[in-house]
Amino acid sequence: MTHSGRPPVIVLDGPAGAGKSSVAREIAKRLGLPFLDTGAIYRAITLIMMRSGVPPVDSPELRRELKEFRVFFSGASVCVKGEDVTDAIRTPEIDANVSPYSAIPAVRDSLLGIQREQRGNGLVAEGRDMGTVVFPDADLKIFLTASPETRARRRYDERISRGGNADYDEILRQVNMRDEIDSTRETAPLKPAGDALLMDTTVMSFEDVVSGVMKLAGNL
Ligand code: C5P
Repeated sequence: MTHSGRPPVIVLDGPAGAGKSSVAREIAKRLGLPFLDTGAIYRAITLIMMRSGVPPVDSPELRRELKEFRVFFSGASVCVKGEDVTDAIRTPEIDANVSPYSAIPAVRDSLLGIQREQRGNGLVAEGRDMGTVVFPDADLKIFLTASPETRARRRYDERISRGGNADYDEILRQVNMRDEIDSTRETAPLKPAGDALLMDTTVMSFEDVVSGVMKLAGNL
């Protein structure tokens, strides 16, 4: 609860592999708040576009798909058109294609409402533009960073622990490419909000990051 007696909106932004997802999920669990992974929404729309053969440029076909797009969250699962796409949105193909689709203003516009609808009574949300665009009035804004090598290593470990194959050098290349596209796009680029608190997690343990954020949340 905030001092004004309502559940807080807490947002975490940052580049790929900075630990936003696992930290935000844990914070949401500890505070009993809903958790919103906005990257999953961008990944899901990328999957739909790729399956429909719609390239990452603004077009009538792209807008038609956007109009029909609905996404449902159930625990850690993501569903689109009645299909559980939780694993399908975390492949190297989606990693390689998500940033070009996410840079299209029409895509961002149409996903804005979907993200804000999840706000309900407080939440913990993570992404790239939570503090700057989606929830600019959030009670607590954190921008998590870590060195590219650390972030690539985390993605590599994550993929291996899910039983997949992984190539560290390829992941590092992808992470750098995605960050470059995400930070230089014109609409809602990846950047800290003016009132965000920066945390470099390169040499911090998961528990240290979580307790740091919990301490900040306790002061709201
Ligand atoms: O966080 P995750 O790695 O799942 O995000 C996948 C991609 O989705 C990002 O690289 C970015 O292109 C896009 N994204 C975005 N804005 C958000 C969340 C994700 O553009 N709020």
